[in-house]
Amino acid sequence: MINLKKMALVLVVSMLTLGLISTQALAAKNVIVMVPDGCSSSIQTLSRWVKGAPLNVDGLTSGAVITHMSNSIITGSAAAATAFATGHKTSVRFLGVGPSEKCPKGKQLGFLTGVEPTAAPFAPVESILEVAKRNGKATGMVATSRITHATPAAFACHIDDRGKDNEIMEQLVYADIDVVFGGGARHLIPKGESYVTSFGDKWGGKRKDGENLINELTKRGYKFVDSKDGMSAVTSDKVWGMFDDSHLDPDLDRDDLHSTQPSIAEMTAKAIEILSKDSDGFFLLVEGSQVDWAGHANDAAYMTGDFLAFDAAVGVALDFAKKDGDTLLMAFPDHNTGGLSIGHEQSKFPPKYTDTSLQAMIDPIKDAKMTIRGLISKIPSPATKENVKETFVAYHGAYWAAMPDEAGQWVAETFNANEKKDKAYYPIAEYVSKHVTAYGWTTHNHTAEDVPLWTYGPNRPVGTFDNTKLAIIAAEAFGYSLNGSAAWEEHSEGVLGDTKKDPNPVATVGDWEYPVSKDIRKNKKSGKIDRLVDITVWAPANGKVYIPKQ
Ligand SMILES: [Zn+2]
Repeated sequence: MINLKKMALVLVVSMLTLGLISTQALAAKNVIVMVPDGCSSSIQTLSRWVKGAPLNVDGLTSGAVITHMSNSIITGSAAAATAFATGHKTSVRFLGVGPSEKCPKGKQLGFLTGVEPTAAPFAPVESILEVAKRNGKATGMVATSRITHATPAAFACHIDDRGKDNEIMEQLVYADIDVVFGGGARHLIPKGESYVTSFGDKWGGKRKDGENLINELTKRGYKFVDSKDGMSAVTSDKVWGMFDDSHLDPDLDRDDLHSTQPSIAEMTAKAIEILSKDSDGFFLLVEGSQVDWAGHANDAAYMTGDFLAFDAAVGVALDFAKKDGDTLLMAFPDHNTGGLSIGHEQSKFPPKYTDTSLQAMIDPIKDAKMTIRGLISKIPSPATKENVKETFVAYHGAYWAAMPDEAGQWVAETFNANEKKDKAYYPIAEYVSKHVTAYGWTTHNHTAEDVPLWTYGPNRPVGTFDNTKLAIIAAEAFGYSLNGSAAWEEHSEGVLGDTKKDPNPVATVGDWEYPVSKDIRKNKKSGKIDRLVDITVWAPANGKVYIPKQ
């Protein structure tokens, strides 16, 4: 009997061991999430025709993503990113916090029928990046916009409005992310001060709290770089690369406007090179931020240029994942933008949809050297139908020599009527698409249809998933769970005292002072400073302060 019991025990133990081993074998060491902001499969098709070869994402198609937010069928970027970063649906413009019936300014938002809130209003909810960091993984983020943009911010920030760039930047600096590449340096520098770059540009500051966060990054052991060359030379494990004071350039315009900026593929390659040195593995978020802006603008050349640049970055990540064998790669847009369609009824080019040639598809954009915004800046003033056509031919290719006179005339009049040429950008891009190409657009805003899911690696998800499920899949891939607001301790607004109007508010609990949006606390008596596992979050809308649990 004893022997049998002993045998059974040995069997159970070995089964557990086997179970453990097989779970570990199934878990991924690294997870890479890549988001081409604001697009859908129409840009995948168009980009493939323009490239004339299969895309990197083509081989990864594995399903679809459902995108609605808590208060609308059509999502905004902040709520979408919060969903796939944290696993919680939230309200428009909220980042990394629970949804609310009302926005902070009191406007009624409500909830879509069938959407039950899974977190308390304005309470911070942890992201996959934060969970990975707490478990010893290296973490990184890459974007082609200001790094405070909605998608990267949702992975490390907790705030009620995506427009609060200064607060978001502070939270990112104190989030202890190992590698950060993108734009937005002006939110690291105090107002009235400036930073002179390694290539002689001067970036002015926007911070209203007087803090120089470039100095803080240096104090925290980061190497700070501002150019492509600076980035390539980095050997440090901790690096911030800010390549413009605000957003980076569209991929098409970069060489002309700021050749010191790296491409999204170059940033992705460097981030992977640094993060993969961590033997515990890593989590990396990469956003092709401007695919969305091209959709907002109805600019097919801009959208194709930035989508192909994103696809090249996917190629870099895919090469790594294939060699590594232990990396889950998930790429998906956050929503569609612009409603691009290939073919529309107003077009005279071609006259009939079943006569659509390869030329009709690719010629309007294949020789584009610039976005339409960039091209408009090259039209001589005053514009005429002749110089409009000449400019389109010079910057978008020979196809545009066939631009009908009436179209050239309309563009010239719109250009001349707009004092600010930026204002002429949307209507001109919309007009030329509709009257001179086969590309159709339904809106200058977002649309609600499902977006494609592209995946590679161990246990890659296959099927149709709500965007919240993607965060859970990423966490499960690592063998972790996402624990909502459990990492923070909630306090009433009393703890902020009279610092509420201060640009640097501080919560006081017991003997400790907790500066808002930072990962430190200071002992009132001894002056001792502790690093916390997370940032202290203040939600002015409900008066609560959330302090990281130790
Ligand atoms: Zn978006």
